[in-house]
Amino acid sequence: MWSIAPPCERGRAMAWGMYRRPVCVARGDGIGPEVMDVALALIERLRAPLDLTFVDMGKASYDAGHPTGIDPAAHAQIESTGVLLKGPMETPTGKGYKSINVTARKRWSAYANKRVFRSLPNVETPFSRAHKRVDIVMVRENIEDTYGAIEHMLTHDVALCRRFITRPGSLQVHRYAFELARQTGRKRLTCGHKANIMKLTDGLFLETFREVARDYPDIEATELIVDDMAMKLVTRPESFDMVVLPNLQGDILSDLCAGLVGGLGFAPSANIGDHVSIFEAVHGSAPDIAGKGLANPCALVMSTAMMLRHVGLGVHGDALDAALARALETGARTADFGDPKNPALSTRDFGARIAAEIAGSPAPDAEPRRGESGRVHEVRMISTPKPTRQDLVGADYFVESELPPAALAEALLAHVPAGYRLTMISNRGTQVWPSGSSFTDCVDQYRVRVEAEAAAELNELLAIAGRMNPSARICSIETLLRIDGKAAFSLAQGQG
Ligand code: NAP
Repeated sequence: MWSIAPPCERGRAMAWGMYRRPVCVARGDGIGPEVMDVALALIERLRAPLDLTFVDMGKASYDAGHPTGIDPAAHAQIESTGVLLKGPMETPTGKGYKSINVTARKRWSAYANKRVFRSLPNVETPFSRAHKRVDIVMVRENIEDTYGAIEHMLTHDVALCRRFITRPGSLQVHRYAFELARQTGRKRLTCGHKANIMKLTDGLFLETFREVARDYPDIEATELIVDDMAMKLVTRPESFDMVVLPNLQGDILSDLCAGLVGGLGFAPSANIGDHVSIFEAVHGSAPDIAGKGLANPCALVMSTAMMLRHVGLGVHGDALDAALARALETGARTADFGDPKNPALSTRDFGARIAAEIAGSPAPDAEPRRGESGRVHEVRMISTPKPTRQDLVGADYFVESELPPAALAEALLAHVPAGYRLTMISNRGTQVWPSGSSFTDCVDQYRVRVEAEAAAELNELLAIAGRMNPSARICSIETLLRIDGKAAFSLAQGQG
């Protein structure tokens, strides 16, 4: 009989005597080992030809003094293998550590987060009761946005988080989403955005969506402002097919979608990159129920099916999803869902019910996908063709001051040399000088815009900062560009 590697047996591999796709497994923290044991037992039951290597990540690695939560040997192994099946992991709080889950996705450029939200048999929700079937694939950009978590206190009262949306990063995720739609027979892809407010960042995400859409005339490309999308996901989820979103908006709406299909216990995910892809449940380590046999393993089981498809074992992946659906149809359930008339099973017993629905080992797909595994990579620059012209035209100075706007302008005007003009002062994004309202509440940090009458010189813009600093402390500076003749910076609210 087939036997599973014992928990945490690092470096041990399972062999099935044919081409075996290498996969790293990190069992995770909290409920991670319990749900991972179910997934591994099902892989074994399917006799999926995988070569599994167990790696150390998460709490134990932090405790062993690795500040990223990733053991160096695990790091090398994952880069060589290219595929990681991952249990949920805890990031120690209050010690300044960055989230291990975000680090893993960003470090290995797993740029597209694919999440599948599908109504499942006997998983009751308000929508199943209304006979509305949910079947939504969400692709969330996984690297950029405010997830750079580049934050500064500009003054004691004012915190700033930079939000990066890049053209190459957006193109990557949109192309992945359209390709996925085409490969999986989905007909409509909707881009969620907030470009009506953030015209440059969300605007770029939307512009690149439109650009990529032109290459996929077979997929209907639609757009929705994200708040409207949130409302429509709740009122008519059955009208959505696939959606693509920037990182933070995608984070929030993907948990909303998990709610549509029964909760986090039913939300699988794949973090897809060109080098490394990570398959994990959306939920966390749920420490409150860890070790009690209460955890619902469905999300990791479905993530495992996604992983099997990714490595070219589509037949095994489909067989696993089908076995889960049959187990649910028979009323198998853990305590967090299902018909209370049926007994709540432990995590392990629920896994056994899924295993019982696997008839035998499906034949492997004809062509194994060897992917990128094992390749040595140079750091790659991702870029797009450069614009024809890029002109420096001024700077925004972010300054600390308790002066009212008119007095601040008066104090700063003296430092602006001939050939440059002080054009605008804003506070929290709203123009307060040269015109504005005395009802605009101000904090102690202003944006002061200086524009050149002709071409600006960087040295001169920096010199202006030096001269302004005694009157109003400089917190940071952003240069102002015109790209191909078009202003590449936003106006203040009320300006223009
Ligand atoms: P969580 O672990 O997802 O748990 C929230 C609650 O959801 C649990 O207390 C439990 O609620 C329920 N739940 C989640 N997964 C379940 C499952 N499989 N079966 C049954 N119930 C489940 O979120 P959290 O409490 O905010 O985070 C806990 C830790 O996980 C944190 O350290 C966080 O950083 C980490 N985390 C990791 C990942 C990841 O590895 N990708 C993702 C998110 C969070 P009830 O028992 O109250 O119903």
